Amino acid sequence: MFSEKMYELGAKSSVIREIFEYGKKRAAEIGKENIFDFSIGNPSVPAPAVVNETIKELIDTMDSTVLHGYTSAIGDEGARKAIADYLNETYGTAFKPNNFYLTCGAAASLTITFNALCEKGDEVILFAPLFPEYIVFAEKAGFKPVVVMCDENTLQIDLDAFEKAITANTKAVVVNSPNNPSGVVLSEETVLKMTAILNRKQQEYGKPIFLISDEPYRELVYDGVTVPYLTKYYDNTIVCYSFSKSLSLPGDRIGYILVPDEVCESGKIYKAVCGAGRSLGYVCAPSLLQFIIPKCVGKTSDVSVYKKNRDLLVNAFTEYGFQVAKPDGAFYLFLKSPEKDAGAFCERAKKYELLLVPSDSFCFPGYVRVAYCVSTEMIEKALPSFQKLAEEYGLKG
Ligand code: PLP
Repeated sequence: MFSEKMYELGAKSSVIREIFEYGKKRAAEIGKENIFDFSIGNPSVPAPAVVNETIKELIDTMDSTVLHGYTSAIGDEGARKAIADYLNETYGTAFKPNNFYLTCGAAASLTITFNALCEKGDEVILFAPLFPEYIVFAEKAGFKPVVVMCDENTLQIDLDAFEKAITANTKAVVVNSPNNPSGVVLSEETVLKMTAILNRKQQEYGKPIFLISDEPYRELVYDGVTVPYLTKYYDNTIVCYSFSKSLSLPGDRIGYILVPDEVCESGKIYKAVCGAGRSLGYVCAPSLLQFIIPKCVGKTSDVSVYKKNRDLLVNAFTEYGFQVAKPDGAFYLFLKSPEKDAGAFCERAKKYELLLVPSDSFCFPGYVRVAYCVSTEMIEKALPSFQKLAEEYGLKG
């Protein structure tokens, strides 16, 4: 009568959503101000002023039938040119507008790219901890997901495990830096070693292996950390970008896929991207959002707020005796659970009204994710609860 698989996906809401819903229920019981919800990655910093100013200006000045009309499926030429110019100026690349395909955010960029690449029997390598939707998107496209655990100490890629996981069926590898859920940024050293392995394996198997760089958090980095631009390190790199987090507009849905000329058979891959977008029914990215791009590309929400939150939490967690992975970017911290079962730890945290996400959801047991895209005041109010929780486990700073 209906698809069991789709029923299963719809009926079983994600753990993150469940915690978020629990938070709403609890807030109704004891007051929003008494709940410390660190469960969800919704930007807490407003969009830069230029976003709303540009939207207002477009509404006042642009022909409404164009502003709200269909664009070409690949996206408005002016928007694609603005992105190419910005990237070329920032990273010294030589992209052209026709290397870009505008999308409804990173989730669409990923599903379209997966569908564009996947043939029967293909595998895609994912590094854990991972964004859980990767598995859903990959399986729907027909990929067999192969999960490779990151190095437990650094949360960088475990290069030996990676090399062993590559087979003749490996079509693509997904990287996400800065990372959700760990906040870790892939170092240049890791990138160089990872791409050397990929080049070697391409030669060995005599076929391309695509590196898909999922980068909604690219601009959210702190203390001058740089995020290597992967197309410069490996020819077969396809970028799946989103403005959701850099411009704080995740509900508006805008992003892109970049297929550089250096990608093997790039023209055909680009056409396959167009075909996948078409078959998935995307039609075009939201036109209003496309038209803000020339003025907003390269602008970023005020990341100093996230940095302040990160520093507050890292310093406090370290003082209380918790172990934290070095978080250079995004707005997530990955805290080692003081007991083996991270779910049990999260249940204990709930006693103090702290809502955290167990890392089992990210295919990497034994940790919890703390999303610090929240108000600084909430963090300050929550710290004594974290301290009590640490004391309950007998941790010492
Ligand atoms: N990839 C990662 C790693 C994410 O964390 C998210 C959203 O949180 C997405 C993709 C999806 O982003 P978007 O809202 O742009 O679809």
